[in-house]
Amino acid sequence: MKLRFQWKLMALLVSLLLLFFLLQSYLFYSFEKSFFFSSLLSFFIVAILALVFLKSFTQPIRDLTELLKRLTRNELEKEAQVFSKDELSTLTKTINEMIVQLRNKIEEITIEKEYLQTVLKGMAEGVLVVDDRGRIVMINDALRKLFSLSTEVVDKTPLEVIRNSELEGTIQEAIRGEKNSSLELTLPSFLGKTFEVNVVGILPSDEEFHKMGKGIRGAIAVFHDISRLKELEKIRQDFVANVSHELRTPLTTIKGYAETLLEGALKEEVAYQFVQVIKRQSDRLTKIVEDLLALSKIELKEFQLKIETLPFHELAEDVLRYIQEATEKKKISISLELPTPLMVKGDRHYLEQILINLIDNAIKYGREGGKITVSAVQRNQSEVEISVIDNGIGIPKEDLPRIFERFYRVDKGRSQELGGTGLGLSIVKHLISAHGGRVWAESQFGEGSTFYFTLPFHI
Ligand code: ADP
Repeated sequence: MKLRFQWKLMALLVSLLLLFFLLQSYLFYSFEKSFFFSSLLSFFIVAILALVFLKSFTQPIRDLTELLKRLTRNELEKEAQVFSKDELSTLTKTINEMIVQLRNKIEEITIEKEYLQTVLKGMAEGVLVVDDRGRIVMINDALRKLFSLSTEVVDKTPLEVIRNSELEGTIQEAIRGEKNSSLELTLPSFLGKTFEVNVVGILPSDEEFHKMGKGIRGAIAVFHDISRLKELEKIRQDFVANVSHELRTPLTTIKGYAETLLEGALKEEVAYQFVQVIKRQSDRLTKIVEDLLALSKIELKEFQLKIETLPFHELAEDVLRYIQEATEKKKISISLELPTPLMVKGDRHYLEQILINLIDNAIKYGREGGKITVSAVQRNQSEVEISVIDNGIGIPKEDLPRIFERFYRVDKGRSQELGGTGLGLSIVKHLISAHGGRVWAESQFGEGSTFYFTLPFHI
Protein backbone atom coordinates (compact mmCIF):
# COMPACT_ATOMS: atom_id res chain seq x y z
CA MET A 1 0.00 0.00 0.00
CA LYS A 2 1.24 3.44 -0.83
CA LEU A 3 1.47 5.85 2.09
CA ARG A 4 0.42 9.33 1.12
CA PHE A 5 3.13 11.94 1.31
CA GLN A 6 1.25 14.29 3.70
CA TRP A 7 0.56 11.43 6.18
CA LYS A 8 4.22 10.59 6.18
CA LEU A 9 5.03 14.22 6.90
CA MET A 10 2.38 14.38 9.62
CA ALA A 11 3.68 11.16 11.25
CA LEU A 12 7.18 12.59 11.26
CA LEU A 13 6.04 15.84 12.86
CA VAL A 14 3.99 14.05 15.55
CA SER A 15 6.89 11.65 16.29
CA LEU A 16 9.30 14.55 16.62
CA LEU A 17 6.92 16.41 18.94
CA LEU A 18 6.48 13.31 21.11
CA LEU A 19 10.21 12.77 21.18
CA PHE A 20 10.69 16.40 22.23
CA PHE A 21 8.30 16.05 25.17
CA LEU A 22 9.71 12.68 26.25
CA LEU A 23 13.28 13.95 26.14
CA GLN A 24 12.42 17.13 27.97
CA SER A 25 10.60 15.21 30.79
CA TYR A 26 13.38 12.66 30.98
CA LEU A 27 16.08 15.34 31.34
CA PHE A 28 13.95 17.41 33.75
CA TYR A 29 13.04 14.56 36.16
CA SER A 30 15.97 12.14 35.90
CA PHE A 31 18.81 14.67 35.90
CA GLU A 32 16.92 17.41 37.75
CA LYS A 33 18.01 19.99 35.22
CA SER A 34 16.22 23.30 34.96
CA PHE A 35 13.10 23.39 32.78
CA PHE A 36 14.75 25.87 30.44
CA PHE A 37 17.92 23.79 30.01
CA SER A 38 15.93 20.54 29.43
CA SER A 39 13.74 22.23 26.86
CA LEU A 40 16.74 23.78 25.06
CA LEU A 41 18.72 20.52 24.90
CA SER A 42 15.65 18.54 23.75
CA PHE A 43 14.96 21.15 21.13
CA PHE A 44 18.48 20.83 19.71
CA ILE A 45 18.40 17.03 19.66
CA VAL A 46 14.94 17.02 17.98
CA ALA A 47 16.04 19.73 15.52
CA ILE A 48 19.09 17.66 14.47
CA LEU A 49 16.94 14.55 14.08
CA ALA A 50 14.34 16.59 12.12
CA LEU A 51 17.05 17.82 9.79
CA VAL A 52 18.33 14.28 9.16
CA PHE A 53 14.81 12.93 8.54
CA LEU A 54 13.71 15.85 6.40
CA LYS A 55 16.82 15.53 4.27
CA SER A 56 15.97 11.92 3.43
CA PHE A 57 12.37 13.02 3.01
CA THR A 58 13.15 15.76 0.46
CA GLN A 59 15.82 13.80 -1.42
CA PRO A 60 13.31 12.42 -4.02
CA ILE A 61 12.03 16.00 -4.60
CA ARG A 62 15.58 17.21 -5.21
CA ASP A 63 16.18 14.26 -7.57
CA LEU A 64 13.01 15.12 -9.44
CA THR A 65 13.99 18.79 -9.75
CA GLU A 66 17.39 17.74 -11.13
CA LEU A 67 15.66 15.40 -13.60
CA LEU A 68 13.34 18.15 -14.84
CA LYS A 69 16.31 20.48 -15.24
CA ARG A 70 18.02 17.84 -17.39
CA LEU A 71 14.82 17.46 -19.42
CA THR A 72 14.83 21.15 -20.26
CA ARG A 73 18.43 20.77 -21.41
CA ASN A 74 17.36 17.83 -23.68
CA GLU A 75 19.55 15.40 -21.73
CA LEU A 76 17.46 12.29 -21.98
CA GLU A 77 19.97 9.48 -21.47
CA LYS A 78 19.08 8.56 -17.85
CA GLU A 79 15.80 8.10 -16.05
CA ALA A 80 15.37 8.88 -12.30
CA GLN A 81 15.47 6.09 -9.70
CA VAL A 82 12.33 5.38 -7.71
CA PHE A 83 12.90 4.61 -4.00
CA SER A 84 9.84 5.85 -2.12
CA LYS A 85 6.32 4.51 -2.39
CA ASP A 86 4.22 7.65 -2.38
CA GLU A 87 2.84 10.21 -4.84
CA LEU A 88 6.40 11.30 -5.53
CA SER A 89 7.19 7.83 -6.87
CA THR A 90 4.11 8.02 -9.14
CA LEU A 91 5.27 11.41 -10.39
CA THR A 92 8.84 10.14 -10.96
CA LYS A 93 7.55 7.08 -12.82
CA THR A 94 5.33 9.26 -15.05
CA ILE A 95 8.26 11.54 -15.85
CA ASN A 96 10.43 8.48 -16.57
CA GLU A 97 7.79 7.15 -18.98
CA MET A 98 7.67 10.57 -20.62
CA ILE A 99 11.48 10.49 -21.02
CA VAL A 100 11.34 7.05 -22.67
CA GLN A 101 8.58 8.19 -25.04
CA LEU A 102 10.45 11.38 -25.88
CA ARG A 103 13.60 9.37 -26.50
CA ASN A 104 11.74 7.01 -28.87
CA LYS A 105 10.10 9.91 -30.71
CA ILE A 106 13.46 11.70 -31.15
CA GLU A 107 15.03 8.46 -32.38
CA GLU A 108 12.17 7.99 -34.86
CA ILE A 109 12.53 11.56 -36.14
CA THR A 110 16.32 11.19 -36.40
CA ILE A 111 15.96 7.97 -38.45
CA GLU A 112 13.36 9.64 -40.69
CA LYS A 113 15.65 12.66 -41.15
CA GLU A 114 18.64 10.45 -41.99
CA TYR A 115 16.47 8.49 -44.44
CA LEU A 116 15.44 11.72 -46.16
CA GLN A 117 19.04 12.97 -46.22
CA THR A 118 20.20 9.70 -47.84
CA VAL A 119 17.46 9.95 -50.49
CA LEU A 120 18.37 13.58 -51.23
CA LYS A 121 22.07 12.70 -51.33
CA GLY A 122 21.49 9.81 -53.73
CA MET A 123 19.42 11.86 -56.17
CA ALA A 124 20.97 12.77 -59.52
CA GLU A 125 18.62 15.76 -59.71
CA GLY A 126 19.43 18.97 -57.89
CA VAL A 127 16.95 19.90 -55.14
CA LEU A 128 16.45 23.37 -53.66
CA VAL A 129 13.99 24.15 -50.86
CA VAL A 130 12.94 27.69 -49.92
CA ASP A 131 10.82 28.96 -47.01
CA ASP A 132 7.85 31.32 -47.14
CA ARG A 133 10.19 34.33 -47.47
CA GLY A 134 11.75 32.78 -50.56
CA ARG A 135 15.03 32.14 -48.72
CA ILE A 136 16.93 28.91 -49.24
CA VAL A 137 16.44 26.39 -46.43
CA MET A 138 18.43 23.55 -47.94
CA ILE A 139 20.00 22.23 -51.13
CA ASN A 140 21.27 18.73 -51.89
CA ASP A 141 24.76 17.64 -53.00
CA ALA A 142 23.68 17.21 -56.64
CA LEU A 143 22.60 20.86 -56.88
CA ARG A 144 25.85 21.97 -55.25
CA LYS A 145 27.72 19.98 -57.91
CA LEU A 146 25.54 21.12 -60.84
CA PHE A 147 26.17 24.77 -60.04
CA SER A 148 29.69 24.30 -58.56
CA LEU A 149 28.58 26.00 -55.33
CA SER A 150 31.40 26.19 -52.83
CA THR A 151 29.99 28.74 -50.36
CA GLU A 152 27.07 28.46 -47.93
CA VAL A 153 23.77 29.32 -49.61
CA VAL A 154 21.30 28.87 -46.75
CA ASP A 155 19.25 32.05 -46.18
CA LYS A 156 20.16 33.47 -49.60
CA THR A 157 17.56 33.85 -52.36
CA PRO A 158 17.68 31.60 -55.47
CA LEU A 159 18.26 34.79 -57.50
CA GLU A 160 21.48 35.49 -55.56
CA VAL A 161 22.72 31.92 -56.14
CA ILE A 162 21.49 30.98 -59.64
CA ARG A 163 21.07 34.51 -61.01
CA ASN A 164 17.96 33.90 -63.08
CA SER A 165 14.93 36.14 -62.64
CA GLU A 166 12.54 33.76 -64.43
CA LEU A 167 13.33 31.03 -61.90
CA GLU A 168 12.96 33.48 -59.00
CA GLY A 169 9.53 34.58 -60.31
CA THR A 170 8.35 30.98 -60.72
CA ILE A 171 9.44 30.11 -57.17
CA GLN A 172 7.60 33.16 -55.77
CA GLU A 173 4.43 32.12 -57.62
CA ALA A 174 4.68 28.62 -56.15
CA ILE A 175 5.15 30.02 -52.62
CA ARG A 176 2.01 32.13 -53.02
CA GLY A 177 0.23 28.94 -54.08
CA GLU A 178 -0.68 30.42 -57.47
CA LYS A 179 0.66 27.59 -59.62
CA ASN A 180 3.29 24.88 -59.87
CA SER A 181 5.40 25.21 -63.00
CA SER A 182 7.96 23.48 -65.11
CA LEU A 183 10.44 25.60 -67.03
CA GLU A 184 13.47 25.14 -69.24
CA LEU A 185 16.48 27.28 -68.38
CA THR A 186 19.65 27.79 -70.33
CA LEU A 187 22.18 29.41 -68.04
CA PRO A 188 25.09 31.19 -69.75
CA SER A 189 26.78 31.79 -66.40
CA PHE A 190 26.89 28.01 -65.81
CA LEU A 191 28.72 26.89 -68.99
CA GLY A 192 25.52 27.32 -71.01
CA LYS A 193 23.99 24.27 -69.35
CA THR A 194 20.28 23.61 -69.91
CA PHE A 195 18.00 22.53 -67.07
CA GLU A 196 14.42 21.45 -66.83
CA VAL A 197 13.18 22.78 -63.49
CA ASN A 198 10.00 21.63 -61.75
CA VAL A 199 8.81 24.05 -59.08
CA VAL A 200 6.18 22.91 -56.57
CA GLY A 201 4.71 24.99 -53.74
CA ILE A 202 4.65 23.67 -50.17
CA LEU A 203 1.32 24.65 -48.68
CA PRO A 204 -0.04 23.76 -45.21
CA SER A 205 -2.54 20.90 -45.31
CA ASP A 206 -6.14 21.68 -44.23
CA GLU A 207 -5.68 19.50 -41.15
CA GLU A 208 -2.44 21.28 -40.21
CA PHE A 209 -4.09 24.64 -40.72
CA HIS A 210 -7.10 23.62 -38.70
CA LYS A 211 -5.00 22.34 -35.79
CA MET A 212 -2.37 25.06 -35.54
CA GLY A 213 -3.84 27.93 -37.49
CA LYS A 214 -0.67 27.97 -39.56
CA GLY A 215 1.65 25.54 -41.36
CA ILE A 216 4.85 25.24 -43.36
CA ARG A 217 4.91 27.36 -46.52
CA GLY A 218 7.61 27.42 -49.15
CA ALA A 219 8.58 25.78 -52.43
CA ILE A 220 10.72 22.96 -53.80
CA ALA A 221 12.58 23.26 -57.11
CA VAL A 222 13.98 20.10 -58.75
CA PHE A 223 16.66 20.60 -61.43
CA HIS A 224 17.25 18.03 -64.20
CA ASP A 225 20.39 18.64 -66.27
CA ILE A 226 19.18 18.13 -69.86
CA SER A 227 22.28 19.63 -71.53
CA ARG A 228 23.36 16.26 -72.94
CA LEU A 229 19.85 15.60 -74.27
CA LYS A 230 19.81 19.03 -75.90
CA GLU A 231 23.25 18.40 -77.38
CA LEU A 232 22.09 15.06 -78.83
CA GLU A 233 18.95 16.70 -80.19
CA LYS A 234 21.13 19.35 -81.88
CA ILE A 235 23.44 16.65 -83.32
CA ARG A 236 20.40 14.79 -84.64
CA GLN A 237 18.97 17.95 -86.22
CA ASP A 238 22.34 18.84 -87.77
CA PHE A 239 22.69 15.31 -89.04
CA VAL A 240 19.27 15.32 -90.71
CA ALA A 241 20.04 18.73 -92.23
CA ASN A 242 23.44 17.50 -93.48
CA VAL A 243 22.03 14.28 -94.95
CA SER A 244 19.24 16.15 -96.72
CA HIS A 245 21.74 18.61 -98.10
CA GLU A 246 24.13 15.87 -99.24
CA LEU A 247 21.38 13.95 -100.98
CA ARG A 248 19.77 16.99 -102.56
CA THR A 249 22.79 18.00 -104.70
CA PRO A 250 23.16 14.75 -106.69
CA LEU A 251 19.38 14.31 -106.83
CA THR A 252 18.92 17.80 -108.34
CA THR A 253 21.60 17.08 -110.92
CA ILE A 254 20.06 13.70 -111.83
CA LYS A 255 16.61 15.25 -112.08
CA GLY A 256 17.86 18.16 -114.22
CA TYR A 257 19.71 15.95 -116.67
CA ALA A 258 16.90 13.39 -116.88
CA GLU A 259 14.39 16.16 -117.62
CA THR A 260 16.64 17.65 -120.32
CA LEU A 261 16.90 14.22 -121.89
CA LEU A 262 13.14 13.81 -121.81
CA GLU A 263 12.63 17.21 -123.35
CA GLY A 264 14.38 16.07 -126.53
CA ALA A 265 18.08 15.90 -125.79
CA LEU A 266 17.79 12.11 -125.92
CA LYS A 267 18.37 12.17 -129.65
CA GLU A 268 21.25 14.59 -129.57
CA GLU A 269 24.94 13.79 -129.25
CA VAL A 270 25.20 15.21 -125.74
CA ALA A 271 22.80 12.51 -124.53
CA TYR A 272 25.69 10.16 -123.87
CA GLN A 273 27.46 12.75 -121.68
CA PHE A 274 24.23 13.48 -119.83
CA VAL A 275 23.66 9.83 -119.03
CA GLN A 276 27.26 9.63 -117.81
CA VAL A 277 26.62 12.52 -115.40
CA ILE A 278 23.48 10.77 -114.21
CA LYS A 279 25.45 7.58 -113.66
CA ARG A 280 28.21 9.44 -111.75
CA GLN A 281 25.71 11.19 -109.51
CA SER A 282 23.79 7.96 -108.89
CA ASP A 283 27.07 6.32 -107.87
CA ARG A 284 27.70 9.16 -105.47
CA LEU A 285 24.23 8.80 -104.04
CA THR A 286 24.75 5.08 -103.61
CA LYS A 287 28.09 5.69 -101.86
CA ILE A 288 26.54 8.23 -99.48
CA VAL A 289 23.66 5.89 -98.63
CA GLU A 290 26.05 2.95 -98.18
CA ASP A 291 28.33 4.96 -95.88
CA LEU A 292 25.35 6.27 -93.94
CA LEU A 293 24.01 2.77 -93.46
CA ALA A 294 27.44 1.52 -92.38
CA LEU A 295 27.79 4.38 -89.93
CA SER A 296 24.33 3.95 -88.42
CA LYS A 297 24.91 0.21 -88.10
CA ILE A 298 28.15 0.87 -86.21
CA GLU A 299 26.64 3.62 -84.08
CA LEU A 300 23.63 1.53 -83.15
CA LYS A 301 26.08 -1.22 -82.20
CA GLU A 302 24.16 -3.57 -84.48
CA PHE A 303 27.31 -5.29 -85.57
CA GLN A 304 29.28 -8.07 -84.03
CA LEU A 305 33.08 -8.04 -84.13
CA LYS A 306 34.61 -11.40 -84.93
CA ILE A 307 37.83 -10.98 -82.97
CA GLU A 308 40.78 -13.06 -84.11
CA THR A 309 44.54 -12.83 -83.77
CA LEU A 310 45.77 -11.77 -87.21
CA PRO A 311 49.15 -11.29 -88.89
CA PHE A 312 49.05 -7.56 -89.70
CA HIS A 313 51.43 -7.60 -92.67
CA GLU A 314 49.22 -10.13 -94.51
CA LEU A 315 46.17 -7.98 -93.87
CA ALA A 316 47.97 -4.85 -95.14
CA GLU A 317 49.19 -6.64 -98.27
CA ASP A 318 45.60 -7.70 -99.06
CA VAL A 319 44.46 -4.10 -98.72
CA LEU A 320 47.22 -2.91 -101.09
CA ARG A 321 45.95 -5.35 -103.69
CA TYR A 322 42.39 -3.95 -103.41
CA ILE A 323 43.54 -0.39 -104.03
CA GLN A 324 46.27 -1.15 -106.57
CA GLU A 325 44.29 0.39 -109.42
CA ALA A 326 43.88 3.74 -107.62
CA THR A 327 47.56 3.96 -106.68
CA GLU A 328 48.70 3.12 -110.19
CA LYS A 329 46.35 5.70 -111.65
CA LYS A 330 47.98 8.43 -109.53
CA LYS A 331 51.48 6.92 -109.78
CA ILE A 332 51.71 6.78 -105.99
CA SER A 333 54.11 4.33 -104.38
CA ILE A 334 53.12 2.58 -101.18
CA SER A 335 55.61 0.96 -98.83
CA LEU A 336 54.98 -1.21 -95.80
CA GLU A 337 57.36 -0.75 -92.88
CA LEU A 338 56.13 -3.48 -90.60
CA PRO A 339 57.98 -5.67 -88.15
CA THR A 340 57.27 -9.30 -89.01
CA PRO A 341 55.61 -11.11 -87.59
CA LEU A 342 53.29 -8.50 -86.11
CA MET A 343 50.16 -9.98 -84.66
CA VAL A 344 47.10 -7.82 -83.94
CA LYS A 345 43.72 -8.61 -82.44
CA GLY A 346 40.57 -7.55 -84.26
CA ASP A 347 37.89 -8.25 -86.82
CA ARG A 348 39.56 -8.90 -90.21
CA HIS A 349 36.78 -7.30 -92.28
CA TYR A 350 36.59 -4.11 -90.21
CA LEU A 351 40.38 -3.76 -89.84
CA GLU A 352 40.62 -3.92 -93.64
CA GLN A 353 37.87 -1.29 -93.86
CA ILE A 354 39.85 1.03 -91.53
CA LEU A 355 43.05 0.65 -93.58
CA ILE A 356 41.20 1.07 -96.89
CA ASN A 357 39.56 4.32 -95.74
CA LEU A 358 42.85 5.78 -94.47
CA ILE A 359 44.92 4.74 -97.50
CA ASP A 360 42.14 5.81 -99.86
CA ASN A 361 42.25 9.29 -98.28
CA ALA A 362 46.05 9.35 -98.53
CA ILE A 363 45.68 8.63 -102.26
CA LYS A 364 42.80 11.06 -102.80
CA TYR A 365 44.55 13.92 -101.02
CA GLY A 366 48.04 12.84 -102.15
CA ARG A 367 50.06 14.31 -105.04
CA GLU A 368 50.67 12.66 -108.43
CA GLY A 369 53.74 10.50 -108.00
CA GLY A 370 53.55 10.86 -104.22
CA LYS A 371 54.48 8.40 -101.50
CA ILE A 372 52.50 6.60 -98.80
CA THR A 373 53.99 4.59 -95.95
CA VAL A 374 52.12 2.21 -93.67
CA SER A 375 54.13 1.48 -90.57
CA ALA A 376 53.52 -0.16 -87.23
CA VAL A 377 55.25 -0.34 -83.87
CA GLN A 378 54.48 -2.31 -80.78
CA ARG A 379 54.26 0.56 -78.28
CA ASN A 380 54.15 -1.66 -75.21
CA GLN A 381 52.96 -5.08 -74.09
CA SER A 382 49.33 -4.04 -74.43
CA GLU A 383 48.97 -2.28 -77.81
CA VAL A 384 50.15 -1.80 -81.38
CA GLU A 385 50.32 1.66 -82.97
CA ILE A 386 49.75 1.81 -86.73
CA SER A 387 50.31 4.89 -88.90
CA VAL A 388 49.46 5.85 -92.47
CA ILE A 389 51.82 8.59 -93.69
CA ASP A 390 51.44 10.60 -96.88
CA ASN A 391 53.19 13.57 -98.46
CA GLY A 392 49.96 15.03 -99.86
CA ILE A 393 48.20 18.37 -99.49
CA GLY A 394 48.03 18.25 -95.70
CA ILE A 395 45.32 19.59 -93.39
CA PRO A 396 45.17 23.14 -91.98
CA LYS A 397 45.73 23.26 -88.21
CA GLU A 398 42.27 24.69 -87.46
CA ASP A 399 40.52 21.84 -89.34
CA LEU A 400 42.47 19.01 -87.71
CA PRO A 401 40.28 18.65 -84.59
CA ARG A 402 37.12 18.37 -86.70
CA ILE A 403 37.99 15.96 -89.50
CA PHE A 404 36.54 12.94 -87.66
CA GLU A 405 33.09 14.60 -87.50
CA ARG A 406 30.37 13.37 -89.85
CA PHE A 407 30.31 15.28 -93.15
CA TYR A 408 33.20 17.53 -92.14
CA ARG A 409 35.47 18.28 -95.09
CA VAL A 410 38.29 20.77 -95.42
CA ASP A 411 37.50 21.45 -99.05
CA LYS A 412 34.00 20.24 -99.85
CA GLY A 413 34.28 20.77 -103.61
CA ARG A 414 37.51 18.84 -103.82
CA SER A 415 36.19 15.98 -101.70
CA GLN A 416 33.04 15.66 -103.86
CA GLU A 417 35.11 15.78 -107.03
CA LEU A 418 37.16 12.89 -105.68
CA GLY A 419 34.06 10.88 -104.78
CA GLY A 420 34.27 11.61 -101.05
CA THR A 421 31.20 11.55 -98.79
CA GLY A 422 32.72 13.14 -95.66
CA LEU A 423 31.88 9.99 -93.70
CA GLY A 424 35.05 7.91 -94.18
CA LEU A 425 36.94 9.14 -91.10
CA SER A 426 33.80 9.02 -88.98
CA ILE A 427 33.46 5.33 -89.84
CA VAL A 428 37.16 4.80 -89.06
CA LYS A 429 36.79 6.47 -85.66
CA HIS A 430 33.79 4.34 -84.66
CA LEU A 431 35.38 1.11 -85.84
CA ILE A 432 38.62 1.78 -83.96
CA SER A 433 36.75 2.69 -80.82
CA ALA A 434 34.75 -0.57 -81.13
CA HIS A 435 38.13 -2.34 -81.12
CA GLY A 436 39.07 -0.45 -77.94
CA GLY A 437 41.68 1.72 -79.70
CA ARG A 438 42.28 5.44 -80.33
CA VAL A 439 42.73 7.41 -83.56
CA TRP A 440 44.29 10.82 -84.21
CA ALA A 441 46.01 12.79 -86.94
CA GLU A 442 48.99 15.08 -87.33
CA SER A 443 49.60 17.23 -90.34
CA GLN A 444 51.69 20.00 -91.88
CA PHE A 445 49.54 21.93 -94.31
CA GLY A 446 51.06 21.63 -97.77
CA GLU A 447 53.51 18.91 -96.73
CA GLY A 448 51.51 15.84 -95.75
CA SER A 449 49.53 14.07 -93.04
CA THR A 450 49.92 11.11 -90.72
CA PHE A 451 46.95 9.19 -89.34
CA TYR A 452 47.65 7.06 -86.24
CA PHE A 453 45.54 4.41 -84.58
CA THR A 454 46.11 1.92 -81.80
CA LEU A 455 44.83 -1.62 -81.38
CA PRO A 456 44.92 -3.15 -77.91
CA PHE A 457 45.68 -6.83 -77.38
CA HIS A 458 43.12 -7.29 -74.64
CA ILE A 459 39.64 -6.94 -76.13
P1 ADP B 1 35.93 12.41 -97.48
O1 ADP B 1 34.94 11.46 -98.01
O2 ADP B 1 35.61 13.83 -97.78
O3 ADP B 1 37.33 12.04 -97.80
P2 ADP B 1 36.64 11.73 -94.76
O4 ADP B 1 35.79 11.62 -93.56
O5 ADP B 1 37.37 10.53 -95.18
O6 ADP B 1 35.72 12.33 -95.89
O7 ADP B 1 37.68 12.90 -94.51
C1 ADP B 1 37.24 14.14 -94.04
C2 ADP B 1 38.11 15.26 -94.57
O8 ADP B 1 39.40 15.18 -93.97
C3 ADP B 1 38.36 15.21 -96.06
O9 ADP B 1 37.34 15.84 -96.77
C4 ADP B 1 39.67 15.95 -96.20
O10 ADP B 1 39.43 17.33 -96.23
C5 ADP B 1 40.40 15.61 -94.89
N1 ADP B 1 41.39 14.50 -95.05
C6 ADP B 1 41.23 13.22 -94.72
N2 ADP B 1 42.35 12.52 -94.96
C7 ADP B 1 43.24 13.37 -95.47
C8 ADP B 1 44.60 13.27 -95.92
N3 ADP B 1 45.27 12.09 -95.89
N4 ADP B 1 45.20 14.38 -96.37
C9 ADP B 1 44.55 15.55 -96.39
N5 ADP B 1 43.28 15.74 -96.00
C10 ADP B 1 42.63 14.66 -95.53
